[in-house]
Amino acid sequence: MGDVRLPAAGLVELRRALEDTATQDAVRALREAGRRLAGDAEMAIAESGGRPLPALPLATFWSELNRYFHEAGWGRIAHQELNAGVGAVVASDWAESDPNESRGAPGCHISTGLLAELLTRAVGQPVAVMEVDCRSQGNDVCRFVFGSPVTLLNVHKKLAQTGNLEDALSAF
Ligand SMILES: [Zn+2]
Repeated sequence: MGDVRLPAAGLVELRRALEDTATQDAVRALREAGRRLAGDAEMAIAESGGRPLPALPLATFWSELNRYFHEAGWGRIAHQELNAGVGAVVASDWAESDPNESRGAPGCHISTGLLAELLTRAVGQPVAVMEVDCRSQGNDVCRFVFGSPVTLLNVHKKLAQTGNLEDALSAF
């Protein structure tokens, strides 16, 4: 199937329209949509990386993922190792976000689902993703943390208590 060009602002409008209708269902639906986009990304990354995804060295995966997102118009990403078991994807010019918006919570739900599925395929076991900073809520970057589902649930709980990612991570 060919591509349809969607202006980046269209992603934000799609999310706003859905959230106006039913917030939690909308968030789930957008994440699910992101997961379903992972097949195309996986094929592109495997092709340019020269190997299928679980066999692709992680360093290559990150550079090819950055290239894919850039070429597909999502923006550039950087990978950060936060501590054993928790990593982050940082995006400074992310298409799903809108720096003119002032949300009370992160808003890049499609990317969250897409990253979760791609990382799951890259490491060959379930990976959960949570967006902790978002340009749509006034942060300089969108920052997605990831880890195993159990680890991320713990990070989520600690973050709710401390309100600070560094404090939440130092509890591990
Ligand atoms: Zn964001």
